[in-house]
Amino acid sequence: MNRRTIATIAFAITLAIGALFAPHRADAATGPVTSGTGWKISAPGITHIDTAPWTIAFHDTASRSKLTPYLKYTAAELQSYLGVKITVSTRIVPITRGTCVTGHTISYRYMSKPDPAYPNRSFTGACGNSLHAANGAYVYINSDYWLKTRNFSEPVRMNVIWHESGHAIGLSHPATCPTNAAGLRPLMCADTYKDLRTRRYSPYEATAFRHLVTNRIYYPTTAVN
Ligand SMILES: [Zn+2]
Repeated sequence: MNRRTIATIAFAITLAIGALFAPHRADAATGPVTSGTGWKISAPGITHIDTAPWTIAFHDTASRSKLTPYLKYTAAELQSYLGVKITVSTRIVPITRGTCVTGHTISYRYMSKPDPAYPNRSFTGACGNSLHAANGAYVYINSDYWLKTRNFSEPVRMNVIWHESGHAIGLSHPATCPTNAAGLRPLMCADTYKDLRTRRYSPYEATAFRHLVTNRIYYPTTAVN
């Protein structure tokens, strides 16, 4: 079923139910919502998350040893926001920059200067499937942040992991970077590791995650790898 068919069915059902659900009819006509104040989904490649469970894997055993303790927390937090199972496995899935990881798998690599042109960077490549559901990612975490000489705090290192994991599941850098009443900027706004001070996902990412889930209504429910 394509997206137009889904939209048509939603519209027809709404009409049958009647005027009570008029606001829903407006939503169905609009299609997936992929950005708002302080958040953005990586559309059109990724517009939503389907119901399939996710696996976190590692490029090699060194990456697994170093990052597993962090990713157990990241996975738990993402799982609570997204309502899909996210398991930190012991699987080794070697990654190459520029090559999609599929099958609802995110594979992490811990290495020094993963982007030689920008030695301070970490980065992520996320891919959607043919139905525009998030489907997998490779994540490179820059091990230089753990060097004693670099003087990084543990919260900043954690924020890098949380930020890159936000990319992995389908978030982009927002177009707008406001500060909310609690003094928090979007974690996904940081475009250098020096900006990362929010600690964990802010209410802006929480809103983006909610839309990743609710946008599901515009697509078939069958998981496709
Ligand atoms: Zn980023």
